[in-house]
Amino acid sequence: MKILTCEEPGKLAYSEGAYPESIEGNAIVRIKRIGVCGTDLHAFEGTQPYFCYPRVLGHELAGELINAGGAEGFKEGDAVTFIPYNNCGTCIACRSGKPNCCVNIKVFGVHADGGMAEYLSVPARLLVNGQGLSYDELALIEPLAIGAHGVKRANVQPGEFVLVIGAGPIGLGIMEFARIAGGNVIAVDFNENRLTFCKDRLGVSYIINPQVDDVKARLEEITNGDMPTVIIDATGSQKAINGGFYYMAHGARYVLVGLQKDEIIVSHPEFHKREATLMSSRNATRDDFEYVVSCMKSGKVNPETYITHRVDFDDVADCFAGWLDPKNGVIKAMISV
Ligand SMILES: [Zn+2]
Ligand SMILES: [Zn+2]
Repeated sequence: MKILTCEEPGKLAYSEGAYPESIEGNAIVRIKRIGVCGTDLHAFEGTQPYFCYPRVLGHELAGELINAGGAEGFKEGDAVTFIPYNNCGTCIACRSGKPNCCVNIKVFGVHADGGMAEYLSVPARLLVNGQGLSYDELALIEPLAIGAHGVKRANVQPGEFVLVIGAGPIGLGIMEFARIAGGNVIAVDFNENRLTFCKDRLGVSYIINPQVDDVKARLEEITNGDMPTVIIDATGSQKAINGGFYYMAHGARYVLVGLQKDEIIVSHPEFHKREATLMSSRNATRDDFEYVVSCMKSGKVNPETYITHRVDFDDVADCFAGWLDPKNGVIKAMISV
């Protein structure tokens, strides 16, 4: 079978590999779609922390079940996705119902080889039933589940102002689930095209571009002087994250979904006077995956609109570098295998 490996930063190469061996408890999935995410692009670029090469990328996956591996409720031929976070089942996080932040987590395409291949062996317990969704939709569940998890962490209440910083694919998902939770969403991004997308396609009420707007003044105006009670960062930019502390209402929750490798700098008096809550949000749980499936099935989210670029598996190596260039306007690139 054909495999695409990121051999070192900047180098993707196709090779012929062996069909996955059957392993007790594992299912075999014939990969049909691979969504490309910032993690994949940063790994290719060489800016992803804790990354080892060579690595087969790809964790936003959909495919046909070739062997269900004994998973209950699944049969061969089913269209499936799976939770790409292989957890240990025994650590403190796993024992506390938080496998998404397992101490020994192995994320497919990050800590273990992922899905840029024709077939992949995955633990059967991680399968998610497709429930009639298309392969495109199934491959979009994982990035949306990350957004759904962040919104769940923030515990968004109807009528609250929710400031979402960063309108990339993860930020867009956060905006959708914040809206579904009843929040008044405010989107901040430097990219005018993405802000227009938020407004026109996702029905986001307020958009702010820090290049032309005074963010704090606009937030005061929108919230009647209160400032947002929920702030969710989806930039993974140290500067944006540090700045977010100043946009919080008193009593606000600040959730970091994006990740960057440096320290967060907070003014303690500014944080203290607000009695603020700071949280990180990592990956997603099975509940989040199933919630996303139900939102897709009921038409509350229509994420296929995020797909801006489509390419066949054979042509991925040639396209990858181009997707890093903001000029190409990639929101979500989708690979067909
Ligand atoms: Zn991703
Ligand atoms: Zn664990």
